Amino acid sequence: MKQFKFLLLISVLFLQNALAEKTALICGAGGFIGSHLAKRLKQEGYWVRGVDLKYPEFCATACDDFVIGDLRDPQVCEQVVQLVDANNSFDEVYQLAADMGGMGYISCHDAEIMHNSALININMVEACRIAKVKKVFYSSSACIYPEYNQLDPQNPQCTESSAYPAAPDTEYGWEKLFSERLYRAYANDYGMDIRIARFHNVFGPEGTWTGGREKAPAALCRKVAEAPDGGVIMVWGKGDQTRSFLYIDECIEGVRRLMDSSIEDVLNIGSDEMISINDLTHLIARISGKNITIENVRGPEGVRGRNSDNRLIKELLGWAPSAMLEKGLRKTYPWIEEQVKNAKKIE
Ligand code: NAD
Repeated sequence: MKQFKFLLLISVLFLQNALAEKTALICGAGGFIGSHLAKRLKQEGYWVRGVDLKYPEFCATACDDFVIGDLRDPQVCEQVVQLVDANNSFDEVYQLAADMGGMGYISCHDAEIMHNSALININMVEACRIAKVKKVFYSSSACIYPEYNQLDPQNPQCTESSAYPAAPDTEYGWEKLFSERLYRAYANDYGMDIRIARFHNVFGPEGTWTGGREKAPAALCRKVAEAPDGGVIMVWGKGDQTRSFLYIDECIEGVRRLMDSSIEDVLNIGSDEMISINDLTHLIARISGKNITIENVRGPEGVRGRNSDNRLIKELLGWAPSAMLEKGLRKTYPWIEEQVKNAKKIE
């Protein structure tokens, strides 16, 4: 009976593969960007396998097949990139798995982050080479940019070519830079087809909003949602530090456009609408309809300023993110407010 069930499973998988237009593996499919990417690829008619340590927390996975596995283990990597049998390789692998979080997390887990994410990347790129995967996407980060170009909050420099001489301000950024070079080396030495993007602060519904790994927009939405009208919320740093924030749908659009292109250059995928953290808080408060006072407190704040430079992506892809930050926050705040209300009901 067990053998029969196994054969049935294999034939169903095989049929799905044969009928589907393209096949994709998403590493980190239980995470924020990975779970949204799975939905998009399914809409496009792909057959999708996801792999992660966990299922998505806030929605059912859209993947056809979901493997719970630890990509620090090379055997897991070799198994998940095999599609039905060893002669059959994925059309596309999206490598999004990483040990990551907002500044509160990445400022104090250096060794874990470097060890875990480097192992994932070393194992995954090698597994893709062995399995002859046709195209691989690697998600790097704006955190690779040198600190010395991000000291002035009003005038940060983040052109793709400014990455060297390298001086990221976090070990998370150094690991991302190492892995960019790793994927590029595999492209050069083995002729692999690799795409690399540097994401700048992606936010949206169904992203981590509490627990210590949340990033600034989600953390501020949560604080505002938890505060009473007329309340005070704590914001890390002086609040004049600047960033830009990219809504999840535009991130996915950029990834798909880059993956479909023949562009081998590393590209920023980010918004160029720069805002200070205090102004971001005021904007969220306005969306919430609450009167909120900010108390700036000591806390990890990262570089003084950062903004996506979108000149190269516009030139090479003929496209760049353009949606207003407020539009994305108007979709994200109500979702986080709902999570906060539900969490209070459970307490
Ligand atoms: P996320 O934390 O929500 O997703 C990453 C996923 O990787 C998680 O679900 C996690 O469980 C999984 N993972 C971690 N270790 C693993 C392991 N050993 N084996 C299998 N799975 C493992 O993060 P995200 O926001 O979806 O980011 C996706 C990628 O984009 C990451 O590589 C991240 O560094 C990069 N990035 C994200 C942002 C952003 O603002 N979200 C910005 C820059 C770069």
